[in-house]
Amino acid sequence: MKKSIAIIGGGAGALLLAAHLNSSLYSITIYEKNAAPGRKLLVAGDGGFNLTHSEEVGQFISRYSPSSFIEKSMLSFTNTDLRNWLKSIGIETYIGSSKRVFPLNGIKPIDVLNAILAVLKQNKVIIETQHTWQGWSSEGELILEHNSEQIHVKPDITVFALGGGSWKITGSEGSWLSYFEQKGIKTIPFMPSNCAVQINWNKEFLLKAEGKSIKNIAMKSDTAERKGECVITQFGMEGGAVYALSGAIRKQLRQAEKAIIYMDLKPAFTEEEIRNKLSNRGNKSVTKLLEDNLNLNELQVALLKSMITKEEFTSLELLASKIKNLPITIVGLAPIDEAISTIGGISLSEVDHTFQFKNLKHNYCIGEMLDWDAPTGGYLLQACFSMGYYLAQELNNQT
Ligand SMILES: Cc1cc2nc3c(=O)[nH]c(=O)nc-3n(C[C@H](O)[C@H](O)[C@H](O)COP(=O)(O)OP(=O)(O)OC[C@H]3O[C@@H](n4cnc5c(N)ncnc54)[C@H](O)[C@@H]3O)c2cc1C
Repeated sequence: MKKSIAIIGGGAGALLLAAHLNSSLYSITIYEKNAAPGRKLLVAGDGGFNLTHSEEVGQFISRYSPSSFIEKSMLSFTNTDLRNWLKSIGIETYIGSSKRVFPLNGIKPIDVLNAILAVLKQNKVIIETQHTWQGWSSEGELILEHNSEQIHVKPDITVFALGGGSWKITGSEGSWLSYFEQKGIKTIPFMPSNCAVQINWNKEFLLKAEGKSIKNIAMKSDTAERKGECVITQFGMEGGAVYALSGAIRKQLRQAEKAIIYMDLKPAFTEEEIRNKLSNRGNKSVTKLLEDNLNLNELQVALLKSMITKEEFTSLELLASKIKNLPITIVGLAPIDEAISTIGGISLSEVDHTFQFKNLKHNYCIGEMLDWDAPTGGYLLQACFSMGYYLAQELNNQT
């Protein structure tokens, strides 16, 4: 007789799991609180659906913290496997100039979601929408709220794939932490990751810069460095280069009221090369010198002026050093709901290498609801997809 599997939550991890479970061994039901599954996938697809990254798998795995938790899943379903699988279901992808992977032009996020849902349909997966999991009954049954009524179910196996704690509008709101705590499972409060940072900009600079991008820079902390670009906002700064430093910034802000990161306005040059270029000054003003000899634009020069003293701006020696390491003081992180991802949730120490709860047998947990971190660039979705695939193989091999 088939065993029953309930998957709670219908996001990225859940969909890949359901697509790869063997439906001749299992009857599979997804319980999703929204009216449709995959809402966060659709949001992730707004403005570029970065499905994964194309870098070599060893390097890929090193992007996660901790990286150990993802290794087996990633090796069982790599970035190349994901691309091949998507191709097999009609979703061609391409590698962009940033080495990130996107659906081919013209393929919309909804097309990707629909292609995956078609696989689920073929795999006889039942999707119960508007079913919100509300914890366990005293008999250990799952409590699901549907149309203001409570339904109790007791599947043979339960997989939780409830997502992280940001972008509540997508359904992933993390209100379930207390249900696990009541079961004695260690949880960690959610915190924003891959999010904007708060900066008290000089008003004059903000007037010139708000909404504009500073391109071809690198952002650095004591533990991380990322090339890319950032956008100046009223709140502070956002963009890939800043998001990549979320972990380091969060760590500093836990210990002090401010965090300091460094912007490298000329990552292609060493400090000495910059000094040499600046030494050829002639009778140019410093601003003209920066524009002509270093190709800095008006915005970059305005940023320098607003962040350093007059003495530093006019001493070419000090200026070269600030161009490579411009200190940016951060006073906070964006509210959790605006973050692209969150850390926190279920402690990784609570699950074994198959993502089964050590103290709650036949119950598993995958995706962003576990406490791990990764930068943007396709690493978030790939982790969830890989965990879903890996768990499917583990469960298929169990029977
Ligand atoms: C704006 C934005 C852009 C992003 N862009 C990218 C990107 O380009 N590339 C990338 O790799 N990642 C991106 N991400 C991150 C990525 O979308 C997530 O990391 C990923 O979707 C997490 O997958 P998951 O399976 O863990 O959970 P989710 O996809 O969040 O799904 C969880 C599901 O569980 C449901 N649920 C929650 N609670 C309950 C409950 N009590 N009962 C029943 N159902 C419940 C939710 O409604 C949701 O459908 C982005 C995120 C955001 C917010």
